[in-house]
Amino acid sequence: MSHCIFCNIAEHKTPADILYEDDEVMVFRDINPQAPVHLLTIPKKHIAKISEMEAEDQQLVGKIIYTAKQVAQDQGISESGFRMVFNNDRHGGQDVHHIHLHLLGGRPMRWPPG
Ligand code: AMP
Repeated sequence: MSHCIFCNIAEHKTPADILYEDDEVMVFRDINPQAPVHLLTIPKKHIAKISEMEAEDQQLVGKIIYTAKQVAQDQGISESGFRMVFNNDRHGGQDVHHIHLHLLGGRPMRWPPG
């Protein structure tokens, strides 16, 4: 989708601070970090939100989680812990309608979230 900011990042049409990419997924730094480590892992395929995920996307979404876990290790936040979040739609606080897994770490997280 040409008007989707994360599709444009996935296609290298919009710059981002990319830490990892392969043919299916990409990891880049959040432009407005909420923690010392705040990364986004996206599929290159456009899926607007988790609630629109199809059965055929299960492996891809599993890969997103696994990739973020690997990058968490590379970033040195695995032992101290981290948070992974998918925001979904309006009440979930989703602003960008291309699924993305937030990886937050480098400081203690609070619960419940706002
Ligand atoms: P969400 O509210 O879950 O949709 O999160 C969207 C996230 O994308 C926010 O944390 C934004 O700071 C981040 N974001 C928006 N545009 C960009 C961009 N061009 N590069 C990196 N992160 C972005």
